[in-house]
Amino acid sequence: MPEKDNLWYKTSTWRNLIDMHIPDWNPEFLSEFSPEEYAQSMVDAKVDASIIYAGNCLGMCFWPTKVGHMHKGLKGRDINSETINALHKQGIKVIVYFNIWNRWAYDTYPSWRMIKADGRSTTENADGSFSRFGQCCMNNEGYRSFVSEQITDLSKSFDCDGLWIDMIGYFGTVCYCGSCRDKYLAETGREIPKVINWDDPKWVDFVRSRERWFDEFAQMIQDAAHNINPNLTLAFQTTSLLSGWGGGVTQSFLNRSDYLAGDFYGQPMQYSVICKYLNNLTRNRPIEFMTSRCYNLEFHTTTKTDEELRSSVLGAYAHNAAFTFIDAIDPIGTIDRDFYRRMGRIKDQVSIYQRAINPDAEMISDVGFYLNFASAYNPAQNGVPMRSASSYFSIVRDMQNIGGMMVRNNILYDFIGEPQLDNLNRYSVIVLPNQYVLSDDEIRAFRRYVSEGGNLVVTGESGMNNMEGNRLVDFALSDVLGVHYKGKTEENRTYIAPTVEGQVHFKENDAKYPLALTGPQIIVKTDPGIKTLATITLPYSSSGEIYKFGSAISNPPAYPSEHPSVTLNSYGKGQAMYIAAPLEKEILRPQQQTFASLIGRLYSPRLSTNAPRWLESIVFRDSDNKRYQLTLNNISDNERGLIAYNINVTLEIPEQIVSITDVATGQAIKYEQEKGKVDISIEELKDFSMLLINFK
Ligand SMILES: [Zn+2]
Repeated sequence: MPEKDNLWYKTSTWRNLIDMHIPDWNPEFLSEFSPEEYAQSMVDAKVDASIIYAGNCLGMCFWPTKVGHMHKGLKGRDINSETINALHKQGIKVIVYFNIWNRWAYDTYPSWRMIKADGRSTTENADGSFSRFGQCCMNNEGYRSFVSEQITDLSKSFDCDGLWIDMIGYFGTVCYCGSCRDKYLAETGREIPKVINWDDPKWVDFVRSRERWFDEFAQMIQDAAHNINPNLTLAFQTTSLLSGWGGGVTQSFLNRSDYLAGDFYGQPMQYSVICKYLNNLTRNRPIEFMTSRCYNLEFHTTTKTDEELRSSVLGAYAHNAAFTFIDAIDPIGTIDRDFYRRMGRIKDQVSIYQRAINPDAEMISDVGFYLNFASAYNPAQNGVPMRSASSYFSIVRDMQNIGGMMVRNNILYDFIGEPQLDNLNRYSVIVLPNQYVLSDDEIRAFRRYVSEGGNLVVTGESGMNNMEGNRLVDFALSDVLGVHYKGKTEENRTYIAPTVEGQVHFKENDAKYPLALTGPQIIVKTDPGIKTLATITLPYSSSGEIYKFGSAISNPPAYPSEHPSVTLNSYGKGQAMYIAAPLEKEILRPQQQTFASLIGRLYSPRLSTNAPRWLESIVFRDSDNKRYQLTLNNISDNERGLIAYNINVTLEIPEQIVSITDVATGQAIKYEQEKGKVDISIEELKDFSMLLINFK
């Protein structure tokens, strides 16, 4: 395969996608589609790249496909080629979108369907109602060759820059169809297990097989496209990585995308954590952050306000990401032109920031939260039959909670994964937030990180399982932590009581009134010489006890114990802290203050500020342009138009600074630099500000 040099995405920051999930039972549907009007809308919105539909989730194709079904409303007309030509005439890059879901194939070839553990296919809901979405199984040979032939035909038919492959993956379905069962039997000599058990190597082997099948399916598509045109960039829908084990995502799958792209529908804090994680998992930057012009995809006409749209765009730009707004076509094929003119005006408002973006700038952060895909499950499901279980395990809520806690405490933080294992020393602190499973590579990397001077914080049951699904007798990192696994408290409401040395981290709590947790804690034994900063205090009984309890309403602390709850060990040149519960999951301010204070013990922060709690500070170092980007972004849920006055930011910058400018106004900003620290003052800020700190 020739070397690829198609880097269109490097300089593209303002893109559009128009959803076209339109069926063809009504002869009016798509009858008024106009390639010229489509292209003119893109010109009005001033986009630099347009993602156009070649096939939707119903299996309707918009070109005369040699395999599959063409949308009848088009009467054989190749609107894709016409639209591509019209867009190219306007100097706009074109990416062709294709959806792997295919209702037409699902209806036409019932043997291709995915089948759930209870025998249902994907148009039948558990409650007896029906769904519009038909999913075929990636292990079915008939469906596989169908997809491969369509991708081949697609890649031959169009002169475009890349492909965007949507709805690839499992999306919540654990498939027990004949093809999957035959394949698993041939590979292992076993049937697919029917009961979830994360401590059973047979279950975990199936989960790993499922991940491999997904990756191989993506590889098949990649090969089909690149056999025809090796210069096509590929972006596979990546949102499955946020839905836990059921999504089946691996880093190997993610690496098949030239750049990571996904559509997200949440609040600014959610965008902030997702951009960070994708920036670290992607093979190339910028990542593509996509969101709808309406409040979510179920709306067709309820458009976000300009302030809300701008906030999504700027949240992406604050992370040096590209932005794509998603619209949906009217069933007859028309487009709301007024909205595109509005997007053109918003582009004018944000273009000044687009010029400051450098996708290759490196984020500067102190604390990295390490997440792996193998730990994205709930051990409480052990023993639950798959036919009555959900495979959905959202990691976003916990990520948002962590992000919010970090922002409120003005900590520069990041979400990292496997690609950062060789580069952990960029972070002053690495946190392993209850990551049950650690691979050999991860264990080696964390051990080396601490021995070379890093600070590791490990919580809960991290490292108690291996990749093969074996439950270990002790933590994989027990030597680094200096603690050993002994069991778990039976009580499901527990307390953390500070020792004299740990008291400083507990603002409101002490040994008599310890800090409450919403779950059990891990009982550990410490090696000699380990510092104990807090111990476990237990209530009179578990919350399920209905006779012998301390109080009918709460479960007050009763029994102090000698069991350590927070420990600190010196290992090599570094330190390792163990916390006997996933404290980072707790949502209340006193709990979060304690967590932030405990990690704060391990390093000196590169940034300090009096910025209000709704304002996140994000720092990138752009070595190409010899500058830092300091962005302050409003990440509150619903409030836009918030103003902050007299903000001071002190930032550690070793280079000699020559000037600081406000990107929006071009004006110079006051600063003082002394001993590697720069003090910056901002008089007034509304929602968002990006400063460029130029150095020699
Ligand atoms: Zn299957």
